[in-house]
Amino acid sequence: MELSQRDITYCKNVGAKRADILRSELGVRTAMDMLRQYPYKYIDRSRFYRIAELDDEDTYVQIVGEVTEWHTIGIGKAQRLSATFFDGTHQCELVWFRGVQYVKLQRGVKYLLFGKPSRFNHTYNFVHPDLTPWDKVTPEMTQGLEPYYNTTEKMKRINLNSKAMRSIIAEMLPDLKAGVPDTIGADILQRYRLMSLTDALTNVHFPKDTQAMQNARARLKFEELFYIQLQILRQMKRREQNPGFRMPMVGSRFHGLYNVLPFPLTNAQKRVIREIHDDLKSGHQMNRLLQGDVGSGKTLVALLCCLLAIDNGYQTCIMAPTEILANQHYETLKTFLAPLGDAVHVALLTGSTTAKNRIPIHNGLMNGSINILIGTHALLEDNVQWQNLGLVIIDEQHRFGVAQRAKLWTKNEIPPHVLVMTATPIPRTLAMTVYGDLQVSVIDELPPGRKPVQTIHYSLQKRAQVYSFVRKQIQAGRQVYVVFPLIKENEKLDLRDLNNGFNEMCEAFPEYKISMVHGQMKAADKDLQMQRFVNGETQILVATTVIEVGVNVPNATVMIIQNAERFGLSQLHQLRGRVGRGGDQSYCLLLTRMELTTDTRKRMDIMVATNDGFRIAEADLALRGPGDLEGTLQSGTPFNLHIANLATDGQLLNLARQAALGILDKDPLLEDEMNRMYKRQLDILRIEQSYNWSEIS
Ligand code: ADP
Ligand code: MG
Repeated sequence: MELSQRDITYCKNVGAKRADILRSELGVRTAMDMLRQYPYKYIDRSRFYRIAELDDEDTYVQIVGEVTEWHTIGIGKAQRLSATFFDGTHQCELVWFRGVQYVKLQRGVKYLLFGKPSRFNHTYNFVHPDLTPWDKVTPEMTQGLEPYYNTTEKMKRINLNSKAMRSIIAEMLPDLKAGVPDTIGADILQRYRLMSLTDALTNVHFPKDTQAMQNARARLKFEELFYIQLQILRQMKRREQNPGFRMPMVGSRFHGLYNVLPFPLTNAQKRVIREIHDDLKSGHQMNRLLQGDVGSGKTLVALLCCLLAIDNGYQTCIMAPTEILANQHYETLKTFLAPLGDAVHVALLTGSTTAKNRIPIHNGLMNGSINILIGTHALLEDNVQWQNLGLVIIDEQHRFGVAQRAKLWTKNEIPPHVLVMTATPIPRTLAMTVYGDLQVSVIDELPPGRKPVQTIHYSLQKRAQVYSFVRKQIQAGRQVYVVFPLIKENEKLDLRDLNNGFNEMCEAFPEYKISMVHGQMKAADKDLQMQRFVNGETQILVATTVIEVGVNVPNATVMIIQNAERFGLSQLHQLRGRVGRGGDQSYCLLLTRMELTTDTRKRMDIMVATNDGFRIAEADLALRGPGDLEGTLQSGTPFNLHIANLATDGQLLNLARQAALGILDKDPLLEDEMNRMYKRQLDILRIEQSYNWSEIS
């Protein structure tokens, strides 16, 4: 029977109880599912170490030697056993905290010690090492790379540990080696020099050597990325066939604004508007991602695109993640549009719009008199109905669930064009997977005359120095942000931190006025405080990250980030983007504790070293790992990567995308006989990925 048909229950070393747990914990139902559980690491058991050679704390090693001395400390549960291990020239310490009574040690016996060393003063010690008498050491134990498997608590409870996983998989090897049907065509395997599935599965579990292991993993990563790309690109190809509103005209409103802009557009802005306009006139629905670093001028691009749609007789909306931002967009747009008089009607709808004020808005949307609606999630409510919504612009995409995006699309018979804007640049690999079904436009140029923000890292001890710098800036007429982190778990505590911070600033700067905003304030209070800062009535704004996105006060030149160690890189970059918006030199001061972890230090160093959002995004991905990227991924990555890593496998991803495109360009619906296999495999994967969002449109 094929391995993919064979019930895991009846595989050797399994049985009903283990099968139940394998199913519920790992989703393993068949022998093939089991073979798809890849090791997360390997330990080279062919290598023997000397104690004198140890220098890395985090890798497993094996050493041959004797136990020369041991003693127990404490009694009962608190008992601990400590032993000295000697390899002929040096010694190290072995420690057991649990199961001390089961550890039987003998003097004058040669042992194989296996474990992970850690250094304490000048001695290495091993906690709970494997200690095997040399005459019990089998050749297999010290052969090649030993695979290690992830297991869960429930699995461990029935002794289904990594070793048990290994022995279950080992029993499947003979059948595996007889050959399994491949999931990738021979042509692609050949073109990209990839192993067959049979060889890859064999070598991922029991590699002959490091090279074979790496080749096996590369093939499996490729396969994983290839199918994701095939899925995404197939959806994209299908959607490219969707009808879309045709908006060929460039009319009086667009020209009206374009001709009176206070500054020329950057070349990047012009290019992006052209790309968007090409979509709008194509007759197919646009799904485009607009990336641009903070301050690159996305808002104006969004507005000009709205005007293109309006000139063609359509309504538009811009959705922002917070009320502050929605308000600000509203004000910005009204200012830009002032020279056009009544030609464009903009309205604002947020959670705090009163029932009474909603009535004219709902009417205006229905009768088509409102051209641009700006708002928050409130735009998605069912009673918001349009006469002819033609273009939807979503600012700061990562704050929105994808389901909501889908809901917007279905408001009209023909889906409106969709433009998603992100201020956090997205690493290429993420853009290709998370947003792989969108076309991408990039504004890679800042408006001229901007001085790059200078970033300096201080430890808290230097606070006085920071404050005196702040004072000088305020004396020169500038304004200052002071941001405190939010730790979502305890809002009361957060607020206390913020209040303390506020008081501290009041004491340090008695001569100035200070505003404070945070997420738990009533919208009206928040607006009032913000407005005072925007108008220049207050010199300092103490805030949480509610000011993270979009807020625009060109006169503010200093951004102080308190406890900067608690922020992720892209958040720091976002915050920094609040300054440097006017003509004056701006500064970002990162305040942290003295003692920093290596990762934190790296984050601060990168912030100091570069202002380039794309570089920061790449570094963020590398430091945090793709599963952990703030914001960007939380809002609905449909993919669970089992083996590929978006931080390190960019090259494989490129190849996989290329291969998938090669197939789809010739056969977009995968109807050819030779592509049946891919279609079938996608159907299987779809179930696993509960992949539903790109179907809606
Ligand atoms: P972001 O891309 O971060 O949303 P904004 O749209 O808020 O950036 O633009 C930042 C600032 O730059 C705004 O004050 C805006 O008016 C200004 N701006 C936009 N385009 C240009 C340009 N071509 N030349 C000069 N200033 C510009
Ligand atoms: Mg913006």
